[in-house]
Amino acid sequence: SRLNQKPVFARAPVYGEKLGIIDSSGNHSYKQLYCRSLGLANRIGTALSSDFGGLEGKRVSFLCANDASYTVAQWATWMSGGTAVPLYRKHPSAELEYIISDSQTSLLLAADPYTETLEPLAQKLGLPCLKLPPTSDLDALCEEGAQEKETVITDWADRPAMIIYTSGTTGRPKGVLHTHSSIQAMVQCLVSEWAWSRDDVILHTLPLHHIHGVVNKLLCPLWVGATCVMLPEFHPQKVWEMLLSSKAPMVNVFMAVPTIYSKLIQYYDQHFTQPHVKDFVKAVCKERIRLMVSGSAALPLPTLQRWEEITGHTLLERYGMTEIGMALSNPLKGPRVPGAVGLPLPGVEVRIVMNNTINTTIVEGTHKETQVRAGLEGKEGELLVRGPSVFKEYFNKPQETRESFTDDGWFKTGDTAVYKDGVYWIMGRTSVDIIKSGGYKISALDVERHLLAHPDITDVAVIGAPDATWGQKVTAVVQLKRGKSMTLPELKTWAREHMAPYNIPTGLVVVEEMPRNQMGKVNKKDLLRLFFS
Ligand code: ATP
Ligand code: MG
Repeated sequence: SRLNQKPVFARAPVYGEKLGIIDSSGNHSYKQLYCRSLGLANRIGTALSSDFGGLEGKRVSFLCANDASYTVAQWATWMSGGTAVPLYRKHPSAELEYIISDSQTSLLLAADPYTETLEPLAQKLGLPCLKLPPTSDLDALCEEGAQEKETVITDWADRPAMIIYTSGTTGRPKGVLHTHSSIQAMVQCLVSEWAWSRDDVILHTLPLHHIHGVVNKLLCPLWVGATCVMLPEFHPQKVWEMLLSSKAPMVNVFMAVPTIYSKLIQYYDQHFTQPHVKDFVKAVCKERIRLMVSGSAALPLPTLQRWEEITGHTLLERYGMTEIGMALSNPLKGPRVPGAVGLPLPGVEVRIVMNNTINTTIVEGTHKETQVRAGLEGKEGELLVRGPSVFKEYFNKPQETRESFTDDGWFKTGDTAVYKDGVYWIMGRTSVDIIKSGGYKISALDVERHLLAHPDITDVAVIGAPDATWGQKVTAVVQLKRGKSMTLPELKTWAREHMAPYNIPTGLVVVEEMPRNQMGKVNKKDLLRLFFS
């Protein structure tokens, strides 16, 4: 329907006094979020001397804390007709400058604490910079919107909505342009599959410049009229407090990346040592929380198992990408297969193709059914995706855009996947996770899964180190439990009893701490550069 193609804010007036966001500055109702956004949209228009809603084809970059100011900046941009480019407060100035320039931004919005960060850049790049009032005083924006200008835009569907930069795991981050309709497709797909309702209360702890934090954890709840409790940043003690607090509104949905779950487990093991505390944690989690999701990187089996032990929840693992939103997911109801990413979400079509000259399709799947080409069962290949949530283009990069699609419109994810035992499995990024060694193709993710079963290994990244004889050799970069040590022969002895011969690492690097970013990802190209160049 027409309303379904409108941005999330279109529904806000209907939810009125209901609490949309709770953050460190207090409570923010939908009505407040809406009128403040209108007011800011007004200011944006003035700053760029354009009519209300007349920002078509212009980008607005904003830097906000993880609080209500972010939503106001995003909605105001949309009400103005512009494209939202969320910046990340932990990015160094050079990275911010790259994103602002690469997205050809026309206007900067700085939330109260970030004026100092953005103003020098604004000057350097010759851009106007609007300062938002403090989050506790966002109502200062309302007066200007009081004349209740209704948005004049009607053609939402194909209008650019947001540019989200990829994590930069395999190269320079690329600006992924989503339209209002691709965002709506992502939102509505998750709302129906994961049964979002206005009674839900989600705890938000992720950065707001990636799909996971923006769409799955913020736009979905705001679309259905639920409440989003936002922490300024992830802190294990604070998250446990919020999950266990009996103060209304009580949290009943949580989503995070695997490293967050493992940090919560670490905290639990250190602090929740008494049996009655453990019982309390498990009882509260089981009773109150209806959904706990993991994604953005592969979920290690020990994390899944330990989380189940302490909370009684089997984490729902799903697979997604900046370019496609969420594509594969374990079910809300029904069995979740550890290590697998389930089946295509509604509306998502997938293919697994063998990367040979004729691009043989091995697997073809939809939400309803998956078909495997006879004789090619269990074969790995590249995962392709098609559907309404797929992005429009890499901003200002027509060649990269063209190269990332097949002639018949499938997006090439660059990930290797396999369909086995009735579900899909992600083997990793073809470019860095698929190691070619002596004629074998080895999945780094597979090797990592096995190595995590070693009692002394707490974190691991497997990389293909260059090798004159083998092409690449399976090299384990490991982080060990405190006070433990490990040599390559020791690791090999253990591995011979637990792993297939070709998977056994022939190289070992022990690190103090695995370099993972905010989204729990390891940059393997950096690791290779660090240790092998
Ligand atoms: P860049 O594209 O800049 O190299 P990136 O691919 O890491 O960075 P994102 O779009 O944030 O940027 O991440 C998507 C990738 O994350 C997927 O292509 C996939 O490799 C990985 N991923 C996401 N969810 C899962 C999962 N459940 N299991 C394994 N890998 C996952
Ligand atoms: Mg990518």
